[in-house]
Amino acid sequence: LQGAQLARSELEEGNRRTSNPINVVFVSSEVAPYSKTGGLGDVCGSLPIALAARGHRVMVVSPRYMNGTADDLHYKSAFDAQCRIKIGCFGGLHEVAYFHEYRAGVDWVFVDHPSYHRPGTPYGDTRGAFGDNQCFHTALFLLLSAVSTSLPDQVHACEAPLVLPLGGYTYGDKCLFIANDWHASLVPVLLAAKYRRHNVYTKSRSILAIHNLAHQGVEAGTTYQNLGLPPDWYGALEWVFPQWARLHALDKGEAVNHLKGAVVTSDRILTVSQGYAWEITTKEGGWGLDELLRSRSAVINGITNGIDIEEWNPATDKYLASQYSLDDISGKAECKAALQKELGLPVRPDVPLIGFIGRLDYQKGPDIIQAGLPELMTDDVQMVMLGSGYPDVEKWMAGAEASYPEKFRGWVGFSVPVAHRITAGCDILLMPSRFEPCGLNQLYAMMYGTVPVVHCTGGLRDTVENYNPIAHGGQGAGTGWTFSPLTKDAMMGAMWNAIGTYRHHKAEWNGIMERGMSQDFSWDRAALQYEQVFNWAFIDPP
Ligand code: ADP
Repeated sequence: LQGAQLARSELEEGNRRTSNPINVVFVSSEVAPYSKTGGLGDVCGSLPIALAARGHRVMVVSPRYMNGTADDLHYKSAFDAQCRIKIGCFGGLHEVAYFHEYRAGVDWVFVDHPSYHRPGTPYGDTRGAFGDNQCFHTALFLLLSAVSTSLPDQVHACEAPLVLPLGGYTYGDKCLFIANDWHASLVPVLLAAKYRRHNVYTKSRSILAIHNLAHQGVEAGTTYQNLGLPPDWYGALEWVFPQWARLHALDKGEAVNHLKGAVVTSDRILTVSQGYAWEITTKEGGWGLDELLRSRSAVINGITNGIDIEEWNPATDKYLASQYSLDDISGKAECKAALQKELGLPVRPDVPLIGFIGRLDYQKGPDIIQAGLPELMTDDVQMVMLGSGYPDVEKWMAGAEASYPEKFRGWVGFSVPVAHRITAGCDILLMPSRFEPCGLNQLYAMMYGTVPVVHCTGGLRDTVENYNPIAHGGQGAGTGWTFSPLTKDAMMGAMWNAIGTYRHHKAEWNGIMERGMSQDFSWDRAALQYEQVFNWAFIDPP
């Protein structure tokens, strides 16, 4: 891809502070630690802090979810900014409020509306996921996009960057909006279809950040009228994709696709790894948008996510039984013993302990593990899986636990502390993802000296280097194992190699761990690359 290789020398020489500060506005359906279901939350919770540290003024706009659980406490330091606006959509005016917290140099702005006050996750209620084509879901995130960029031709219209006097003054008319995934995709559409027409935000630019192309916000074309967009902009969202339409039983095959709207209206497009930037332009990885994305390939870049090393650092991790680092790795054995104890598995330092953390759905490939588990369990190994998702996979995990009581644990649920303890206590982290835009767990694993075994796809291929014992004159190279194609046999082949190396080649194993642990996963590296793309966004095309 043109421009995919970012100027290395500039990145290496990058100063701590930027010489070109920009007002950056992230819009996201989730943000850690306030609301997190996956990598999107992690990224929007830590990249803004890294950018603010470089001297940019950074705001993150996200919903204020109140679900009546202890999670609500995350918002306890965000106070009512005493600003109300009315958004016209879904046939009426909806009043929303802003809450605000200034933390770690970033303005965290939370949109408050009754539709965010319900049990469940951002993407589903207590009965499960909404899917990405449900009207309610759209209403939820339309409000998010609308208040982030609001509608200038409405009475009372105002929006976060223009009206919130955060720290005494507003962000103003020249901002860089980062619309994350389909939930925020109406941001660039609103800028193009409404603002620029009214001579507002003409100096602003927008970037669509794609964390997962599989979800696009597709629904019946008749719902366009609910979005408050001018009728003549229907084409920007129009989506005729018969297979998809049939699948979702949409009217006459006519649909609107929110993500497509952002693909055609944003100034630039970013994905969370370079590998994924290419994959989305292929038929296999493009989820029906590949042709359109190919037509915009000149403005697509991939930047590998960083990790929040305040939260994910074995030397300071508060969830662990013992902290450790590359200089003194002994604490990892204590973490392993503590994890085995917590899981009720035999406490044995010599047995390879394998972990999996993630959503139990099509993307993450739990079915491949399911297929390989009987073979894996013939060996003297232990395995723990943490995740929630498809009910049949959850049920299978419970069944596997009963079948292999001395060897297997399936932890159904979402627990950040347990995720930390698995990452530290395991020897191997298994990720048979069908596709993986970036993937964070393999980065956390390498940081914690846990060796990843991953399907060779997207960000996994970019970040895990397959072990090669004869490289560098026999010293060896690589940070884990990658396998392809995504089959049970290919996965098991990689697993047997990893397990064999763990058991019989300790020095080589330690080399793999050390190489993983010595990498720079900090957001500082990625923040510099983001800055370069920001600068490109403000350069008008020739
Ligand atoms: P995705 O965003 O596709 O779900 P990523 O690997 O990018 O996948 O990010 C997943 C994030 O969510 C990681 O921080 C991971 O530790 C966390 N996570 C996933 N499932 C769970 C779970 N069941 N409990 C705790 N954390 C989880």
